[in-house]
Order: sequence, then C-alpha cells, then structure tokens
Amino acid sequence: MEVQTLKYPAIRNYVAGQLTAATQAPTLEVYSPLSGELISTVPLSTAADLDAAVQAAKAAFPAWAAVPIKEKVQIFYRYKTLLEHHMHTLAGLVREENGKTYDEARAEVEKAIELTEFACSMPQLIQGEILEVSKGVECRIERKPLGVVASIAPFNFPNMVPHWTIPNALVLGNCLVLKPSEQVPLSAIKIAELLKEAGLPNGVLNIVNGDREIVEAICDHPDIQAVSFVGSTKIAKVVYRRATANLKRCVALGGAKNHLLVLPDAQPEMTASNVAASMSGCAGQRCMAGSTMVAVGGVDHIISKLVEEAKKIVPGQNLGSVISREAKARIEQHITDAEAAGATILLDGRNTQVPGHEAGYYVGPTVIDHVTPDMAIAKEEVFGPVLAILRAKTLDEGIALENASNYGNAAAVFTQSGSHARYVMEHASAGMIGVNIGVPVPREPFSFGGWNESKFGACDITGKSSIEFWTQLKKTTTKWNPESRTNWMS
Ligand code: NAD
Repeated sequence: MEVQTLKYPAIRNYVAGQLTAATQAPTLEVYSPLSGELISTVPLSTAADLDAAVQAAKAAFPAWAAVPIKEKVQIFYRYKTLLEHHMHTLAGLVREENGKTYDEARAEVEKAIELTEFACSMPQLIQGEILEVSKGVECRIERKPLGVVASIAPFNFPNMVPHWTIPNALVLGNCLVLKPSEQVPLSAIKIAELLKEAGLPNGVLNIVNGDREIVEAICDHPDIQAVSFVGSTKIAKVVYRRATANLKRCVALGGAKNHLLVLPDAQPEMTASNVAASMSGCAGQRCMAGSTMVAVGGVDHIISKLVEEAKKIVPGQNLGSVISREAKARIEQHITDAEAAGATILLDGRNTQVPGHEAGYYVGPTVIDHVTPDMAIAKEEVFGPVLAILRAKTLDEGIALENASNYGNAAAVFTQSGSHARYVMEHASAGMIGVNIGVPVPREPFSFGGWNESKFGACDITGKSSIEFWTQLKKTTTKWNPESRTNWMS
C-alpha cells in the first residue's frame, strides 16, 4: 500500500505539555485552500479526550494561580519575543492553512503580538481596591481567576483569535483548553510549543482538536467555569444557550453584516480604496468586513472609483483564497441568486482560477449594485470578497437599512461632515463604529465585541472588558481593633 507523506505531520492534541493522540482515531483531512493540496489530518477527539485535557488543566491550576502576576507576565514577555522571532514560520502556517496572502497572515501575527503586549500590562490594570469603611474595618476587593476555562475558535484567524483569549485568560491565572477550528489546526500547536519554550508550566494551556462533539462536551463539562466562543451566529447561539444552561459564564461572538454608509461629501479616492479593502481583505472572510455599502444620495462617482479599485485586487496576488471548495460554491451561489433577483453585477468574481493553482479555492472581487433589502445577499453573511450596494435617498433611510440587520458587529460612515459622522456614531446599531475607516477594529487596550446577534454575553472578548470575563471579585472585610495591640517591649 502506498503511504502518502503529508507536508505537515498529523495533528495531535496537546495535553499537560505533551502532544498526545486522541483516544479514538477518526480524522479529518486538512487541505490548503491555496492549492487544494492535502497537507495534514486532524483528530476528531471525543469527550474522553476533552476530559483528559480538563483534568490536566485542573491539576495545573492551584500552582499557576499562586504564581504572582508579575512573574506570570515574564513568560509572556519571553513569548512575545518568540512570536517576533518566529514571525515568518507563523505567518507561513496561517497562509498555508487559511489561504491568506502573506501580508495578511503576517498582520494577523502582528496583532497576536499586540494582544500579548496587552496581557503583559495586566499588573498595571488589575490592582484591587481597599477602603477603611468604619473604625478598624476595611473592605478590600481583589480579582481572582475562575479556574479551568475554554476557548473555541473559528477558521478565519487561526493565530489571532486564539490570542484574543490565551494571553489574558492565562495571565489572569486561569488554565485553558483551546478548541481550534478543525479547518485550520496547524497554528494552535505552534502557539503551544512557543508558550512552552517561553516557560509556561505544563497543563496551563491544553489543546483538544475536533468538531461539534468537543464543543458540546466543553459546554457540558462540570469542571469548566467559562466558555469563550467565536464563530457563526448559528453556532454562537447554540454554545451560549448550552453553556449558560450549564451555569457557565459565556461570551459568544457571532457573524456579521457590516454596513458602510457612503455620503455624497465623502472624499472619493480614500473612500473607494477603503471600501474595496474592507470588503476584500482576507478574501472577505472577516467578521469586520464591510460587506454592504449603503450609497446615500448621489455617490455614483465614488462607486465608479470603487469598481476601479476592486479591479486592482487580483486573486493569487493581493487576494487570497476562501477557505474551502464548499465556501467558494456558496459565495458564487449568493452572487448568482442576487443577479437572478434583479441586482446588477458591476464586477464578477465567479469562476476565478489562479494559473498554477487551478485547484485552489479562489473567488475574485465582486461588486453588486442595486441590491434591495429583501434579497438574501442583503441579509445573510456571505463571507467572501463580495460587496452588495444598497441605495438610500437620505441619511435616515441609510441608518434604517443598517438598523434593520440582525447583526451589529461594525458599521462605518464615509463623510467630511462632522455632524453627519456624529449622527451615524449615535444611531448605528453596532458595537464598533468607523468614521472614514472601513475596518474599525479597536486596538488594545480597547475591547472588541459587537451588538445584537453578533455577540451574546455581557463582556467583550478582548481589552479591559475581558478582565471582567476572566476573573471574579473577592470581597474581604477585615476588622482589627487598633486599641488591642500588645506592647511586647514592656
Ligand atoms: P463556525 O460557527 O462554523 O465554527 C466555529 C467553531 O464552532 C469551530 O471551532 C467549529 O468546530 C465549531 N462548530 C461548528 N459547527 C458546530 C456545531 N454544529 N456545534 C458545535 N460546534 C460547532 O464558524 P467558522 O465558519 O469557523 O467561522 C466563520 C464565522 O465566524 C463567521 O460567521 C464570522 O463572522 C465569525 N467570526 C466572528 C468574529 C467576531 O468577532 N464576531 C470573529 C471571527 C469570526
């Protein structure tokens, strides 16, 4: 029998600091979306594998929680240097498993470094409070870790999204079980290796690969205190309901349909290039992608420039692939359905092939005008390099279109008028707002998180808000009678 050698060794789980085989061995094949080539396999672990990881985390927790935070962050300072040192390898893994361009993959690792830097500043952010509330009586508040926690990640940022949770959760004293996306399992193992090299004790971070079964087992496991989830809204709802029904803390980030309102007074060149970059960056597979443009009033001159900008985005050069053959088919079907429903295709990315990578999963940049609110492409997350243009006569009509979305991750306005910008900032129903910025990701220390069906749970996932999520407050009241001391010297 011919044994096929894969480019990357078969992925294993990572438990108590060791790469371990899953107990049963059904595996999924992992393909590079750039080439369609089989590059590795990933185990579909079982609830027993999850339990082994949870037990490792539980065993590591008392000692890890007891390490002073100023010592914990030293590991993450070293880890940050390792991320910088291994940048090329890490970006290469992201590119290979996800299909991004090298620059996009590198930007993802740079963001992981910024997230790690934030965690290193934790000692400056989490001091407690103390007050003498009556004679000799003090109240004090300290932040304490939760214990064993879990993080479930999507395919679109194999390196960055795990860093939304790992550095903060660990520096704050928790032990974590990560469930990467089964579509992109390579980056997570490298992250674990580098953290071990930086000095992270065994068991503090564990990785269990798999799909639905592991996610459900995480929601049900009695020893997991909190669950952080990032993925589609459909699964975010399932996870949020199941984890909270099991009395766990949960934050579940879902999908998005971000509206970019373009007003007639917008600066044409900047707006056109910003909107084109927002809809097509990472092949449109970003929860922050501006997938819907709301053209308010007469902005045809900007739409023409936008199409010219989009034509400069070339698959295989400055545009990566989408994640799978199924994703390519789904995205192209959305375009076909919009056309059939009466929309106008200004730029068509269907049937794209990259010479030399004919088996890769590419969709070219696509701009669709005269989309109406009832069309599926106006309502559903397409998650590809596709821009749907809706028309509005007034700013209020434009805001109403944005507000009608079930989602609410981000929204942006392009204008040179402060009062119009202010109006959109006030009235858009989204958690992250951009003014003349098409991808308004808040940078550390600001928190990341949407509204409506783009996020379930009280806290955001990064920045200061994540400190609330990963800790609980211990309130201690002490009474020491200042009159009752003994003078030992007499
Ligand atoms: P997904 O919901 O399919 O998968 C996310 C995770 O859930 C994966 O780990 C997967 O294994 C698991 N999963 C899949 N099906 C499941 C099921 N039936 N039951 C339990 N678990 C299941 O999402 P995806 O396709 O990997 O990622 C893309 C989605 O993630 C998009 O909707 C995107 O907008 C969203 N996303 C949102 C944010 C945000 O900040 N709001 C960030 C990144 C991605």
